[in-house]
Amino acid sequence: MTKITVAKGDGIGPEIMDATLAIILAAGAQIEVEHVEVGEKVYLAGNTAGIAPESWDIIRRNKIFLKAPITTPQGGGYKSLNVTTRKFLGLYSNVRPCMSLDPFVRTKHPVMDIVIVRENEEDLYAGIEHQQTDEVVQCLKLISRPGCEKIVRYAFEYAKQYGRKKVTCFTKDNIMKQTDGLFHQVFDEIAKEYPEIENEHWIIDIGAAKMADTPELFDVLVMPNLYGDVLSDVAAQIAGSVGLAGSANIGEECAMFEAIHGSAPRRAGQNLANPSGLLQGAVMMLNHIGQTEVAEKVQNAWLKTIEDGTHTYDIFKEGISKQKVGTSEFAQAVIANLGQQPSLLKPVFYAKNTALNLPKYKRKPAASKALVGVDVFVHWNGTSPDELAQIVQKIDKPGLKLSMITNRGIKVWPEGFEETFCTDHWRCRFKPTEGANITKQDIIELLSNAVSENIDTIKTENLYTFDGKAGYSLGQGQ
Ligand code: NAD
Repeated sequence: MTKITVAKGDGIGPEIMDATLAIILAAGAQIEVEHVEVGEKVYLAGNTAGIAPESWDIIRRNKIFLKAPITTPQGGGYKSLNVTTRKFLGLYSNVRPCMSLDPFVRTKHPVMDIVIVRENEEDLYAGIEHQQTDEVVQCLKLISRPGCEKIVRYAFEYAKQYGRKKVTCFTKDNIMKQTDGLFHQVFDEIAKEYPEIENEHWIIDIGAAKMADTPELFDVLVMPNLYGDVLSDVAAQIAGSVGLAGSANIGEECAMFEAIHGSAPRRAGQNLANPSGLLQGAVMMLNHIGQTEVAEKVQNAWLKTIEDGTHTYDIFKEGISKQKVGTSEFAQAVIANLGQQPSLLKPVFYAKNTALNLPKYKRKPAASKALVGVDVFVHWNGTSPDELAQIVQKIDKPGLKLSMITNRGIKVWPEGFEETFCTDHWRCRFKPTEGANITKQDIIELLSNAVSENIDTIKTENLYTFDGKAGYSLGQGQ
């Protein structure tokens, strides 16, 4: 018996949760349910997180969380409970299978069966944003080696356990050589540990186009957070309907399972909603807690029900569907099909042990790190880079000189193009002169000189090498 936390959520949440629990319990799931209240009511009672501290205690104690969609009230100040839960509980892996159910659910891609494994904690979602000048705001894209190793290993272990043949990585490392470059590098390193699984890397733009056009070429896909967020919705939609997909959010200790759609408030309380998305989340949960036989029974009964043409309104199509049913009738039809298998759709067979072998991250020995320069970012309202260079060169120190100015990453001094459009946000790169070494004290003196010269410095980034390899990008055009 596994104790799980259940949140019925808002809108259609309670109906689809009742349907889902009825199905998995009828299939023999050995679970004990503990309910928590999250979402709209909690938000509107003045808790901006949408969840009470006592509920966190229950979720952390039980470790397994099945969550129906919730409504985030309109207006500022309310934090997304999904994002908070993922980050608080360290749910680093978001797993979203997307398969077509042709010919029973209409799709342009009849042969599609992919799983998107999305990094869930970092990238641009660290939410570290600043306005630095009148014209420029920034968002920090943070990619870590532990983050990359954990998610890439998860993708390969998932492929191994579920008998998948290939793992594809999507990044934009031709442009973001440090951040996406690290993700790609770690992918190549870890892929070597799984010689039995094919691996490949695509630049995200053409990769995404290929996935939307010929999804049958892909199997498991792994990618950083933002790309995964966008592409997993594309994949669910082209498979037939976002209403049919579930997702798992997996951490080292805890895991959360859900449908990918929202609370559909306009459909609430009318016994109309399709419980399939949440049911797919529950099947992943059953696999995760080792109740694979129950998971298999539920999934095959669900496939058979779809195949029988017993459809809720959202997937009902004249000529394809046989019977339009409500939420509870759909659940009853799945329950009646327990023990049966689909005949046209491919039945599932889950391995008896679906526990993944995921070692805890071990920190690598520190590299030899050397300070080799500094980027000083300046807010300046002029337009001529040559003029700015003259101003900024006044703060040069012996052994540490202005070497380059860029604007939005493009080199504008020395030898820039007149055509390059410049904002009020400038990066001034200082490098040691031939044979000189620099220290943090030199940077402090440089900034102190800038204050004396009335230069509006907005931030600095130290330039380092790690074991002799540059840990910073060149200016575009440099
Ligand atoms: P939505 O997913 O709730 O609805 C989009 C459309 O799909 C609607 O037409 C809806 O009727 C339909 N739909 C969705 N699920 C369905 C189902 N199971 N069966 C039949 N039809 C279904 O998206 P939305 O309208 O943009 O958002 C509504 C609320 O849900 C918002 O408050 C949003 O913040 C929240 N939301 C929550 C989650 C979550 O908790 N995981 C995710 C997304 C949105």
